[in-house]
Amino acid sequence: MKKKRIIIAGAGPAGLTFAYDLLKKSKKYEVIIFEESDSYGGIAKTINYKGNRIDIGGHRFFTKEKVINDLWEEILPISDDTNKDNILLKRKRVSRILFENKFYDYPISLKLETLKNMGFIRTFNVIISYIKSIIFKRKENNLEDFYINRFGKKLYFLFFRDYTTKVWGRTPSCIDSSWGKQRVKGISIRKVLSNALKRIFKIKDKNKETSLIEEFLYPKFGPGYLYEEMAKKIQELGGEIILNSKVIKINNKNNTIKDITVLSKDNEINYKCDYFISSMPIKDLINGMDTPKKINRIANNLPYRDFITFGILVKKLNIRNNTKIKTFNNRIPDTWLYVQDNSVKLGRIQVFNNWSPYMVKDNKKTVWLGLEYFCNEDDEFWKLSKKKSIEFAIDELVKLNIIDKKNVIDATRIKIKKAYPAYFDSYSELDKVIKYLNKIDNLYCIGRNGQHRYNNMDHSMMTALVAVDSLLNNKSKKEIWNVNTEDDYHEEKENEV
Ligand SMILES: Cc1cc2nc3c(=O)[nH]c(=O)nc-3n(C[C@H](O)[C@H](O)[C@H](O)COP(=O)(O)OP(=O)(O)OC[C@H]3O[C@@H](n4cnc5c(N)ncnc54)[C@H](O)[C@@H]3O)c2cc1C
Repeated sequence: MKKKRIIIAGAGPAGLTFAYDLLKKSKKYEVIIFEESDSYGGIAKTINYKGNRIDIGGHRFFTKEKVINDLWEEILPISDDTNKDNILLKRKRVSRILFENKFYDYPISLKLETLKNMGFIRTFNVIISYIKSIIFKRKENNLEDFYINRFGKKLYFLFFRDYTTKVWGRTPSCIDSSWGKQRVKGISIRKVLSNALKRIFKIKDKNKETSLIEEFLYPKFGPGYLYEEMAKKIQELGGEIILNSKVIKINNKNNTIKDITVLSKDNEINYKCDYFISSMPIKDLINGMDTPKKINRIANNLPYRDFITFGILVKKLNIRNNTKIKTFNNRIPDTWLYVQDNSVKLGRIQVFNNWSPYMVKDNKKTVWLGLEYFCNEDDEFWKLSKKKSIEFAIDELVKLNIIDKKNVIDATRIKIKKAYPAYFDSYSELDKVIKYLNKIDNLYCIGRNGQHRYNNMDHSMMTALVAVDSLLNNKSKKEIWNVNTEDDYHEEKENEV
């Protein structure tokens, strides 16, 4: 019997998971993945820069979904035998906020050190403004209302407004409150106070899933390694992955996709397909199709935030370990730091030595930092030359007194388009686009940009597993869109940005 052809756009976590799961479950399909870039893993890839590996951000592997954990461990088992390469390491999460040259817990916690850092007057004002926010609850029209209702105005201005503006390029008053509900659920002053009281009276929190939150899994050589291994397994199962090939047209007639057009090395090639699985951005998908004007307008106004990361290799940091955690050479223990100060453009700093010492060519003598900047692809910072932007990033580290310029050994820059699907502009009308896409019977939208949802790897992969189930068992596509919308899915204390 002739196999049915499935074409997948994108070899990120979602596209790869779809192919792997389907090929394991059925031999009736021919699977081809087209990937625009030259690598596997999408934004969860790892780039090897002269032996130092850099992750796009810093990708913690944790999930509440057993099926996803099992899948990760099927590809790379958890092990502390570091002589092996194909392993997942268990890592401790340490992340703090750097603000006015002082460290604060992330998320903010109420302890003597926090109060000492903030000072008496500021602390007093924070308490008063919090009490006000309890008495005068705001209607939650946007993210600003969401934060103020949970933290009070003062704390919102200190710790949330500027950082959120850095990330999204919009103040929280312009952002839909659903982003807060999805990403910072479970964090509030009430939680902070109750945690502080529990600490004072040494009460154990039964609900706190410490193992999920404080510890995470991480491949020895970064997240991309896991997806490279997954790609190998797909090929062993008979799947084909074609890199440097962009899906540019999706030819849809009478609610069925008959074929797609791929741009590969300046050649446009048509491929017939029985099913099309899209993890490409909704905006690009719609632009590649012949769609009604209204749908086209909504899709074209869907906002994204782009991202630049710099890998900076230094001999040492100026900041030293000021915690009780034992570290090599008294280095700071943080996997990453949030940079709160609005005097710099920098958003977060990753210390890759602390993610996995094997990410760094010489872990003993060098510190390998990842600097994160959020921007738009048409702004000045994006257009700056590589040399100038590296100089800019190094100068910001010097300004924050994190490094001395003379200790910089090497640096690189990586740009990522559409790193974040954003929740403003036409986002409120996305349901109309979803309704339209769901009518196309052989189209399945999966993943992060594929659904325009702020999905982490686990939820992106989960959409793929649910889509395979829907395709094989003729189930409604609604469940694919329902992933990461229920409260249960949300990770307390979790915040990627
Ligand atoms: C800074 C940062 C930090 C993060 N930290 C974490 C974390 O700690 N933990 C976590 O779980 N998640 C994290 N994430 C989220 C994680 O990266 C995503 O959830 C995941 O990569 C999404 O997988 P995906 O396959 O849906 O999309 P992507 O990773 O975006 O992959 C989509 C792929 O499709 C390709 N593509 C796009 N258009 C086309 C086309 N037209 N034709 C062919 N190919 C195309 C792209 O090149 C890409 O390879 C982070 C993200 C960022 C930006």
